[in-house]
Amino acid sequence: MKFTQLELHWQILIGMAAGIVFGVLMSAVSWGPTLVSDWIKPVGTIFIRLLKLIAIPLIIASLIKGVSDLQDLAKFSKIGGRTVVLYIFTTVVAITIGLLMVNVIKPGTTVKSEVIERISSQYEAEASTKVEAAHKAKERGPLQFFVDLVPENFFSAASDNRNMLQVIFFAIFFGIALLMLDEQHQRPLKDFFDSLNELVMKMVDLIMLIAPYAVFALLAALIAETQDPSLFSALAWYALTVVLGLAVMLGFYLVLNYVVTGIRPVQFLRGIAPAQLLAFSTSSSAATLPVTMERVEEHLGVEGEVASFVCPVGATVNMDGTSLYQAVAAVFIAQVLAFDLTFQDQLTIILTATLASIGSAAVPGAGMIMLVIVLEAIGLPADKLAIGLALIFAVDRPLDMLRTVINISGDATVAMIVAKSVGKLGPPRPKHWWDHYPKKKSTPAD
Ligand code: ASP
Repeated sequence: MKFTQLELHWQILIGMAAGIVFGVLMSAVSWGPTLVSDWIKPVGTIFIRLLKLIAIPLIIASLIKGVSDLQDLAKFSKIGGRTVVLYIFTTVVAITIGLLMVNVIKPGTTVKSEVIERISSQYEAEASTKVEAAHKAKERGPLQFFVDLVPENFFSAASDNRNMLQVIFFAIFFGIALLMLDEQHQRPLKDFFDSLNELVMKMVDLIMLIAPYAVFALLAALIAETQDPSLFSALAWYALTVVLGLAVMLGFYLVLNYVVTGIRPVQFLRGIAPAQLLAFSTSSSAATLPVTMERVEEHLGVEGEVASFVCPVGATVNMDGTSLYQAVAAVFIAQVLAFDLTFQDQLTIILTATLASIGSAAVPGAGMIMLVIVLEAIGLPADKLAIGLALIFAVDRPLDMLRTVINISGDATVAMIVAKSVGKLGPPRPKHWWDHYPKKKSTPAD
């Protein structure tokens, strides 16, 4: 069997494993890291750029098509309302799991004081950059979130992927107005966005053809660039607590999804696996979004109008993995620095980690910036805050990779549940590699 005949998630897994082995080998020779960053890493960077390139056209096309396909607007507000409720519910569940884990395992009691000193001097500079970034994010008024939703200019909103919510706002507005036109004026625009949507989905398929090679490049570069792996073992219990919490969260999605939609865990994982593996390799829900949408729609049976709203909104505001990690990290830092937390502080963590995860950008390392807000809310003094952040910095990247997997799995789960609740969930549609290629026309001789 040829490599390209394997199912996509196997191809990607093989690419990842080969990338890790190659990265380890390259870090063993002096010229290895330069070779990887000059000649291998660019393949991964191009892949991420391609995914980001199509994210905005994908949201516009699929959301306008989705909204304008709805028979009535009441259905749209139902989808919107249920999405928000489920996103908040799963986030609170995630934080609660994180808090339970970290209070039971108590990883903070395992870190020796010489390790604290060594780590805090090594990562001081990085920690203060994160604190500054968090303060900038915090200086906003309470209604700023809603003001920021409305773009002043469509083109400037669409020219920056960080403005995803503004683009979503425009597309919904456009779709609703389109719904209100008479049939004669509606038709050409609907046909246009319908075709555009199909086209962008095809572009996702084409980009995914290089995914196995791209993840090879991304992971090889990550491993070859890692410094001082010895710190990993000093923070092993903390990392393990986050990983266990994330695993429980994944289990929660599988059970919830099975109970509500009837999809078997294996079926769900087979459908969503390529997106999960990309989330792991890129550490970015935003970069993974086109693939999450494609998998949810074309493999898990969620109809376009639900997927095109729930997935992009989720990529921007629903980060269950991030909120779970923020809860564990906040309590871990308090444990290490012998800062007592009351029950009320733990409730504050639930509230602030919910808001902090909503505010985290869907890019690598964003969750750690917003962690500052959680730490400040429980009253950790500024000097301890810097040490605390420095402490978890060394293991943040691998944990970021894992929490991003949970972030996108949460979006996919909620998409399926919302779709089921409004009668827009079809059966899972397993697809094979050959479905990505145009079919040969059969001739009478065949
Ligand atoms: N990297 C995460 C994401 O893109 C955010 C974070 O937790 O840092 O979903």
